[in-house]
Amino acid sequence: MNGQEFVTENHRKLLDEIQWISDIGVDNLVVTIPYLIELIKEQFPKFTIRVSTIARVNSVNKAKFFEMLGADEITPDVMINRNFKILEKMVKALNCKINLLTTDGCLYECPFRQYHYNLCGHGSQTLSDRYYIDYPLISCSIIKFSNPAEIMKCRWVRPEDLKYYEDLGISNFKIGGRRLPTDRIMRSVKAYSDGKYDGNLADIVQGYSFSFGSIQQLEPNKGFGKTVEEEKKANLYIDNTKLDGFIDFFKNQQCRAMCDECNYCAEWAKKAIIIDEEGTQIYLDSLKTFRDNLVTSREFGIERKESKKEKKRKKKKTKLEWNPETHEIFETMVSFSPQEFQSMTRMVIGSMSEKKAKNRGSEIVENQDMIQAFLEGTPGPYQEEMKENLKKMGLIKA
Ligand code: SF4
Repeated sequence: MNGQEFVTENHRKLLDEIQWISDIGVDNLVVTIPYLIELIKEQFPKFTIRVSTIARVNSVNKAKFFEMLGADEITPDVMINRNFKILEKMVKALNCKINLLTTDGCLYECPFRQYHYNLCGHGSQTLSDRYYIDYPLISCSIIKFSNPAEIMKCRWVRPEDLKYYEDLGISNFKIGGRRLPTDRIMRSVKAYSDGKYDGNLADIVQGYSFSFGSIQQLEPNKGFGKTVEEEKKANLYIDNTKLDGFIDFFKNQQCRAMCDECNYCAEWAKKAIIIDEEGTQIYLDSLKTFRDNLVTSREFGIERKESKKEKKRKKKKTKLEWNPETHEIFETMVSFSPQEFQSMTRMVIGSMSEKKAKNRGSEIVENQDMIQAFLEGTPGPYQEEMKENLKKMGLIKA
């Protein structure tokens, strides 16, 4: 709220607004800020209050604090949606109800989340100049569409799995979607009421499909709207019929939030996620171009003069040309590696190949550079398989 709740003139407007909400017959408010909860409970006791997931209630202690303030219901931090131990303890420790947000598709432990809420909060104020560019959405989409395992790690809950939460004593579920068209929200509500959805999970949870949410038409920034429009080409399909049993690992408390050592979500992504690779690349290119425009300030029409140091660094970083045939073979070799390692392989072996070409004094990466890079850069356990692939492609002798 930008501290405006403590400016007398705006504090009065705030009270008027809450009074208006009361007058039109609303009886339940969703609130994040502890001060507002206290104020509402003190001056407008007719309202029941649900604490928003934005308050990040992720422990019994925090939940008890909000209950003590007067909360009637709490939507916990979505990041604990698959932590059955904490949820169970919360239910037991509280008198107020737990209301689980089931349709959140934000990145697991999303680093943009708090910034995103802040941007939205300030962007919606009319007190001063405001402008909003959805940098968090652009950045998180790059991560999700570069690696489908990230989609599985998000803390959405399938309609079929609500029963496990009911077993814990949670019977209220929130279907999010305030910026989605009504038909999409209704589809989600129906799926969760039926406890079943035999289709694309991306149609009933949020966070993957922005081009159908009509935000691109409402968005004043045309570049952003155009970028989001490209998402359709990725054609993401999360086959919900293939996800029975996915929740078991979490029910048994086996998720340790150490994804590099785990791979559970990546394995399920292979089973259930279908994506158009070519279309995804177009979408990713479009997202990255938009992000580049933001981080270089081009989006704002500002061209900074480069310092000598920057120019030098850029020159050093400039990528070499690839012989087209070598590049094609390189991509085939990358496709032989496990899907979750492909972007890493592309980055590491690609830059090693370029270094090799540079060391030869060439500006073009050729087969010899790439072969050497694969031989030197592939980790021990994968060496044999990689050599077999090089042999199959006639790049080294059998
Ligand atoms: S630790 Fe494993 S189960 Fe947990 S989010 Fe990461 S990959 Fe998924």
